Amino acid sequence: MSAICPKCNNNAMPIWKKAFLSPLAAMPCEACGAELRVTWKSYLKAIALGSIIFLLGYLQFEEGSLNQYLTFGVGFVLMLAGQIYFMPIGLDKAAGLDKAGV
Ligand SMILES: [Zn+2]
Repeated sequence: MSAICPKCNNNAMPIWKKAFLSPLAAMPCEACGAELRVTWKSYLKAIALGSIIFLLGYLQFEEGSLNQYLTFGVGFVLMLAGQIYFMPIGLDKAAGLDKAGV
């Protein structure tokens, strides 16, 4: 399974690599070399659920307890899953990328 490039519609990168995409770091498409990145909006949306679970684990459980580690683990996995499955890739410096849908 691969992430699809919005420019050339070919496989841009292995799907797990999407977890390393952030609004701060662009990555080149493996097929056409276009700089790909994500917007803050889609990034924050993708990691929102995992972050909330992370925060709950921090607030609810004793520091260093097994429950807290488990909750952190679940939050981390959800953040990664959100990035991999629910985060649209955009083209770097594409016109209106950050404004789209706002
Ligand atoms: Zn491409």
